[in-house]
Amino acid sequence: MFPKTVALALALVPFSLGQVSSDFESGWDSTAWPTYALDCSQGGKVSLDSTTAHSGKNSIRVDGAGGYCGHIFFGTTKVPSGDVYVRTYLKASRALTDSHVSFITMPDSAQGSKKHLRIGGQSRILMYNRESDDATLPDLSPQGIATSTALPTGSWQCFEYHLGTDGSVETWLNNSTVAGITVTKGTTNPNAAQWTRSRVVPKITAVYFGWESYGGDANTFWYDDIVVSSSRIGC
Ligand code: CA
Repeated sequence: MFPKTVALALALVPFSLGQVSSDFESGWDSTAWPTYALDCSQGGKVSLDSTTAHSGKNSIRVDGAGGYCGHIFFGTTKVPSGDVYVRTYLKASRALTDSHVSFITMPDSAQGSKKHLRIGGQSRILMYNRESDDATLPDLSPQGIATSTALPTGSWQCFEYHLGTDGSVETWLNNSTVAGITVTKGTTNPNAAQWTRSRVVPKITAVYFGWESYGGDANTFWYDDIVVSSSRIGC
């Protein structure tokens, strides 16, 4: 039994400590970073862009169309098995509006088949949405909205988040904690009532970057210097 256990442990090590990253300077490897558009795809587009970048000369450009089927994402299924940290530089063309949108979506087996943990905007601020029960983080009350922040447009922003194995969520914009979209054991987020009503602990199987709109909002986003890791990355 012992050698078998060791072999299993060794097999798990690269995955659990795994880190995937790309600066897209060698181009867009669409095998490692495939596109994702569940159910339908009409009007959205992913491309390598050499006219704007955070690092070097390349980034990935996502032209997201309005309406659900205008969605398009690209990303990776190489997700650590424990704590997950995701850091990306991103640039948005247009400001988040009152309408609900997502720019990161993650298939979440804890919620069930074809359900996602989403990061995006509503009420003009950054927010999370759990697809299975439509809960938002923060609560979209005036108090909750005030604890998150708008996403600046037209310039590169460093966006990072952490999904903990205890269900905690931490979010940083340019290395500063965004309180409204942070829920950890030991600290109280008074605007996370809706989010914490459920005991679902996210178990994501992929991370996809792009655009999805549940109203008519269209947008263009650029992504660069993406890292998915089991420990904090920083900007
Ligand atoms: Ca780059």
